[in-house]
Amino acid sequence: MSNLEAFRAETRAWLEENCPKAMRTPMQGEADFCWGGRKYTFQSEDQKVWLERMAARGWTVPTWPKEYGGGGLTKDEAKILATEMKRLNARVPLVSFGIWMLGPALLKFGTEEQKKEHLPKIARGEIRWCQGYSEPNAGSDLAALATKAVDHGDHYIINGQKIWTSYADKADWIFCLIRTDTTVKHDGISFVLFDMETPGVSTKPIKLISGNSPFCETFFDDVKVLKKNLMGEENKGWTIAKYLLTHERSNIGDMGVPTPLNMLAKDKLGTKDGELSVTMLRHQIAEHEIDAASFMFTLERAKDAAKSGGDQGAFSSLLKGYGTELNKDRHELIVKVNGSDSFEWEGQFSNNGEIARTWLRTKGNSIEGGTTEVQLNIISKRILGLPS
Ligand SMILES: Cc1cc2nc3c(=O)[nH]c(=O)nc-3n(C[C@H](O)[C@H](O)[C@H](O)COP(=O)(O)OP(=O)(O)OC[C@H]3O[C@@H](n4cnc5c(N)ncnc54)[C@H](O)[C@@H]3O)c2cc1C
Repeated sequence: MSNLEAFRAETRAWLEENCPKAMRTPMQGEADFCWGGRKYTFQSEDQKVWLERMAARGWTVPTWPKEYGGGGLTKDEAKILATEMKRLNARVPLVSFGIWMLGPALLKFGTEEQKKEHLPKIARGEIRWCQGYSEPNAGSDLAALATKAVDHGDHYIINGQKIWTSYADKADWIFCLIRTDTTVKHDGISFVLFDMETPGVSTKPIKLISGNSPFCETFFDDVKVLKKNLMGEENKGWTIAKYLLTHERSNIGDMGVPTPLNMLAKDKLGTKDGELSVTMLRHQIAEHEIDAASFMFTLERAKDAAKSGGDQGAFSSLLKGYGTELNKDRHELIVKVNGSDSFEWEGQFSNNGEIARTWLRTKGNSIEGGTTEVQLNIISKRILGLPS
């Protein structure tokens, strides 16, 4: 038996024994995701146990080094773990901006002290992070950010405002872009980490069309941040910011492998001679499924390239741009399949308006992490080599 086959057998047996039955059911919505953090309330004892068991093996972040709370798995082993979890319908034990975004950046740019302090807490789900990038006048043109840090020797005093800070009111720490030099644009930005309980930090939730309030305005009034919390060099934060964005974009673009639409449609609308009875929808769904399958192959190709050490770079813009538009298309079709049932907003039948709320939420996918137009600009310049 090869090493990988032995790893698969051990992993399968461990998952069978350790994944609680309730954690082998599809997540019904946002509430089922485990975000961790100081303020997080577990939805059930099973959810807590599942996180603890997976974290103890480092399998919340399978490829991170063991010394930082990871599983130390190779990319091939991690792929096997993912396949075996899928086989069991095991839920992802922990989701977080720490895992998707900050962790990879810390591994590349953090000091040893920063890695040792922050990575294990991310891996165990003890600290939840939020992202302080956008400002009222700095979204697509992120480098226009104005949140200002004044140098006081061993610390900065920070003043300014962020906006659209997802889950800022639920997060424990923030990774944040600040201006440490006002005379230059990109070269005057630094990347800092600080506790959201630092005096002078406040948040104000923003309510969305979906009825949820997943993000906030975040204010900094004379916030003191020690320089040991500066990541990378002063005024060199833009490089880290961009690197982190490639991870954010790849993650947003990769929507996983959802239930095929034709199955959802057949369940809802019925079939005639084995085919979906509504002809027009049948064509639209077929087209979507072909696009989705092609995209899945592209994602696999990107993952293989990353496995052999390739940098995602601008390719993450392609994944993000296409993946999020595809996801919007998928939810438009789900709404069509479910007809007027889609618009029930509250009540048990619709799981509290899950279809409508998710459909509305997908509109934000093509904005967060950089809009589709911005991704198209990057693709045209950096992949296709077109002039600006
Ligand atoms: C669900 C959600 C979650 C978010 N979470 C966070 C978060 O946690 N932290 C954070 O910092 N930010 C977050 N954001 C903010 C997000 O990063 C910004 O909304 C995004 O970068 C766009 O910036 P903007 O909203 O200022 O739009 P603008 O930059 O003002 O853009 C307005 C319109 O102009 C277009 N446009 C702008 N520039 C160009 C150009 N050069 N070429 C072509 N078209 C252009 C855009 O595509 C868009 O359609 C989130 C946003 C959403 C929707």
